[in-house]
Amino acid sequence: TVKGQEERHYAFYTDSIREQMVEEINIQSRFSDALKNKEFIVYYQPKVNLSADSFDSAEALVRWQDKSGRVISPASFIPVLEKNFLISTLDQYVFREVCILMQNRLKSGLPVIPVSVNVSKIQFYNPDFVRIYSSIKEEYQIPDGLLEIEFTESACFENTEYFLEIIAKLHEHGFLCAMDDFGKGYSSLSMLKDIPIDVLKLDSLFFVSSPDSKKDLTVIRGIISMVKELQIRTVAEGIEHKEQVDFLKNIGCDTIQGYYFYKPMPEDDFTALLNGIGK
Ligand code: C2E
Ligand code: MG
Ligand code: MG
Ligand code: MG
Repeated sequence: TVKGQEERHYAFYTDSIREQMVEEINIQSRFSDALKNKEFIVYYQPKVNLSADSFDSAEALVRWQDKSGRVISPASFIPVLEKNFLISTLDQYVFREVCILMQNRLKSGLPVIPVSVNVSKIQFYNPDFVRIYSSIKEEYQIPDGLLEIEFTESACFENTEYFLEIIAKLHEHGFLCAMDDFGKGYSSLSMLKDIPIDVLKLDSLFFVSSPDSKKDLTVIRGIISMVKELQIRTVAEGIEHKEQVDFLKNIGCDTIQGYYFYKPMPEDDFTALLNGIGK
């Protein structure tokens, strides 16, 4: 009967909600042990500068490798950590790991490149955020211009005045500032003229539809030329195909981050790549 079906659907619905809650509680309760046991590891994805035709920077991306060796992607645990403010602890941990790697290489006279880290909105609105990050940067004696903070456009909309203040302070302390996932939310282009960011990362959503969709290409071309006029560097994310690379190069996009060139890689592979610079 129809009634029977409804009941089944209802039962299915509550089951999946329950499963989700169990999963969330599971992640929360495992978090601090996982952190202590070094189950969170940092991967690095090189970004390719199109005018130099080689990588010139990278993004740090966290992974959770549990005791069984299974690698859990951030998409499945970050939203849970965001609900519990645990994300700030993780963001800071990743940032410190990046500083440790850089300091080791700088001390040994090995090549380094700028690295960006992601900062969740919760961390961004932590009143101690800039103080903590700048003191870690100083602790590891990282020179200005080597560390970049990525935040999402929603961090900017929440409270524009506070946002501008944070950007100014980050700049004072020698950080570069990047807006991540541009185009995913409600950002408007006109807003960009008022916010002094260094880098705009165009979300992969821009590039998912077939590369010969003329309208999309016109939009991307327009965005990139306007952003360039504002002296903001453009990074295109999620680029997997040669046609996309050719098009982006043609319209003056500065940098590409995508599987076409490099996937996120463990630290050892990343340092091997860096060691090859200038050889
Ligand atoms: P994001 O910051 O926008 O990072 C880019 C994501 O796109 C990464 O996913 C990267 O692996 C993926 N990607 C890069 N190129 C390609 C490509 O060509 N094709 C495809 N299909 N994907 C590509 P990942 O590593 O799974 O991270 C997902 C998101 O998790 C990140 O998106 C970021 O928002 C968040 N995240 C990662 N690490 C951290 C962290 O330490 N702190 C915070 N707060 N968030 C983080
Ligand atoms: Mg990012
Ligand atoms: Mg992004
Ligand atoms: Mg993204």
